[in-house]
Amino acid sequence: MARPASAIVNAMSVDVEDYFQVSAFDEVVPRASWEGRESRVCANTERLLALFDEAGVRSTFFVLGWVADRFPGLVRRIADGGHEIASHGYGHRLVYEQTPAEFREDVRRSKAALESTTGTRVRGYRAPSYSVVDRSLWALDVLIEEGLEYDASIFPIYHDRYGIPDAPRHAHVMTRSGGSIVEAPGSTVRIGRMNLPIAGGGYFRMLPYALTRWGINRLNDVESRPAIFYLHPWEIDPGQPRIKVGSVSTIRHYRNLHKTEGRLRALLRDFRFSTIGDVVIGPVLPSSAAAEQMWA
Ligand SMILES: [Zn+2]
Repeated sequence: MARPASAIVNAMSVDVEDYFQVSAFDEVVPRASWEGRESRVCANTERLLALFDEAGVRSTFFVLGWVADRFPGLVRRIADGGHEIASHGYGHRLVYEQTPAEFREDVRRSKAALESTTGTRVRGYRAPSYSVVDRSLWALDVLIEEGLEYDASIFPIYHDRYGIPDAPRHAHVMTRSGGSIVEAPGSTVRIGRMNLPIAGGGYFRMLPYALTRWGINRLNDVESRPAIFYLHPWEIDPGQPRIKVGSVSTIRHYRNLHKTEGRLRALLRDFRFSTIGDVVIGPVLPSSAAAEQMWA
């Protein structure tokens, strides 16, 4: 079997939410109905854990606080597998549709739910639908104040719901008036004057896998930079209940669900991956208690 050609370790990430919680369904799936719907997030996340385990890959899991409160056992299983637990907010509300005070409350609630479940500090945050855009950059100040070390919510592309097209393409430190935070943007390759998203989500499902492989190779070999890949548990679940929504959202959500698991296996074989925290900041050093145990 071919081994990864590049020595560069890329970052793997999963936004842990259920199929009915995606922003594209906000208009047709009232939040009040979430509780009563068939939940598939545990089974789908367990399958991802098995795939990562098989490949020896550790990933970051941005878990929704709503999911953590209902399925704490799932969060513990992810953490026990050596993966990084990070925050995807609490109620999957777009950042730019919240006030700074509402956003702070949402971040606090999710961080507290995750930290009390695992006993480990949360270092990273990713906004629902990459909704840190020009008009919601204040979110970074809130994240710094709430003790987050990195944010992974800015996509340097044009898109109808998100994106800061001229944002830096690689992980970098953002200095704000109240401190600094590492920004870990969605990965793109530069084609002429455009940034083309090449590492995850709908792009991974809709476009041929060869394009993802080419894009990550280009980042690794030509730019010597890691890719930051992302996907959702529902993206490997062709059996999920169908929700009636407009044609664009239908294509974006349902296209090629049956192909994603096979593509993910290929991706895990073709490239090296670790958590976003490890890739953009560095591994967490063992706490003194853990270190004492190690040397005991
Ligand atoms: Zn999400």
